[in-house]
Amino acid sequence: SKFVVGLTGGIGSGKTTVANLFAELGIDLVDADVVSREVVAKGTEGLAAIVEHFGSSALLENGELNRAILRDKIFNTPSERKWLNGLLHPLIRAEMLTQLQNATSAYAILVVPLLFENGLDSLVNCTLVVDISPELQIKRTTERDAVDAQQVKNIIASQASRDEKLSKADDVIDNQGDISALRDKVAALHNKYIKLAAQT
Ligand code: ATP
Repeated sequence: SKFVVGLTGGIGSGKTTVANLFAELGIDLVDADVVSREVVAKGTEGLAAIVEHFGSSALLENGELNRAILRDKIFNTPSERKWLNGLLHPLIRAEMLTQLQNATSAYAILVVPLLFENGLDSLVNCTLVVDISPELQIKRTTERDAVDAQQVKNIIASQASRDEKLSKADDVIDNQGDISALRDKVAALHNKYIKLAAQT
């Protein structure tokens, strides 16, 4: 089966930027955020199960999932949240595995913001953590998104700590430098993963 690298890191650390650099080298990516939307797209068994459970108020006029309503329905109701997670997590996991096995590159990358938090590191051969300081996470995220520093701090606090991620990482990519330094680090890791994949 395919050699899979799990790519993670905190908010604003540079996961997407790093993933795109691997993609430029020809590596196939599977993105957990994309997959989590695909499993509830129009016409899926996932969406049908949600409508059966919550009713058609969970749908928009155009037949797509009404995310705002769904968020409301699970927000203060742990049993409903649990039901939804019980539905979605296996669907997401299965779809990620399908897409990874369909990858044609020498190895594949699974991009997951909450790789360790959600136990998805069990699906990968090795983990790569993109690391920057909390100060830089706040700077880059507030420059990118319409959010303030406190909102970013709250999200950082809700994620696994920097130390926890670093201690679980097989490889760490320091993204505190410029993009050209990052590109060199990605190229070096790419060579390492090509060799590892060939041995596995
Ligand atoms: P999130 O989890 O919040 O979606 P992410 O980990 O995918 O974030 P990116 O979107 O890749 O992070 O990067 C965050 C921001 O920082 C982006 O605006 C990106 O362009 C910028 N950025 C990433 N790496 C660097 C770098 N080395 N130098 C300067 N800016 C960078």
